[in-house]
Amino acid sequence: MDLELTGRVALVTAASKGLGRATATQLAAEGARVMISSRGAEQLAATAAEISAATGAQVEHCPADVSDAADLARLLRETEERLGGVDVLVNNAGGPRPGGFDALDDAAWQQAFELNLLSGIRLMRGVLPHMRAQGWGRIVTIASSSIKQPLDNLLLSNTYRVAILGLAKSLAIEFAPDGVLVNTIGPGRIATDRVAGLDATRAEKSGMSIEEVRAQAEKSIPLGRYGTAEEFGKVAAFLVSGANTYLTGQAFLVDGGMVKAL
Ligand code: NAD
Repeated sequence: MDLELTGRVALVTAASKGLGRATATQLAAEGARVMISSRGAEQLAATAAEISAATGAQVEHCPADVSDAADLARLLRETEERLGGVDVLVNNAGGPRPGGFDALDDAAWQQAFELNLLSGIRLMRGVLPHMRAQGWGRIVTIASSSIKQPLDNLLLSNTYRVAILGLAKSLAIEFAPDGVLVNTIGPGRIATDRVAGLDATRAEKSGMSIEEVRAQAEKSIPLGRYGTAEEFGKVAAFLVSGANTYLTGQAFLVDGGMVKAL
């Protein structure tokens, strides 16, 4: 199947590693011209060079903290200048900090709002005019399995990830006449540094080893293992591709069957 991404301009945020990087890699492999960003310039530059070497694609990079409005404005400007208008937005950010209700003060709620919700709103506001003017655009937000089922000790995720769904559904309806398709993906347990960190925290709290924590988590996944970032990237690449012409306003779990809810 041709994903019809050749020459498309794709912006992937929080992409120096993990799910963002894997998605950017798939898009580059499909012929898109890609801008990646994340906070640290050094790792970002190395990632861009590696993706470009592996795929032969043009991969630009621009450091930006997605929770900073000025950074996002600069990122959008740089993307436009170096690659042109954004056809594909993969809206990603670092995960919110763990914690239950008693552990979270106003500052923690505000910080997670800026990191995991407002960042996407700002990015979408920035890319929609070009998408609407040309009558074609694809937006995917990387959220979490918490869009379907709350996660233990991750109240900020359980709250703001669900808000993304409302936003994505609304924009999917509002901008469908303009040819802009808006979807959300919820990763379950994909083997990245983020998940390794969460496993380490759980191991410390429970007295189990990290291996035991992982084995226990894998037992709750019908496919019996964590997913790979590459598996995730392929799903994301399809959703933002030209081959996807009829999926919009949807939320997809990439979780090996982990969430049992319908
Ligand atoms: P990761 O830690 O491997 O990578 C996170 C990326 O985000 C890095 O490139 C980092 O530099 C960047 N980043 C962090 N804070 C940023 C900021 N303020 N501005 C710009 N870039 C920033 O994590 P991951 O597993 O790839 O997770 C990506 C997203 O998916 C996170 O929001 C995470 O919570 C969510 N998620 C992942 C899983 C999973 O199974 N991996 C499950 C549920 C949710």
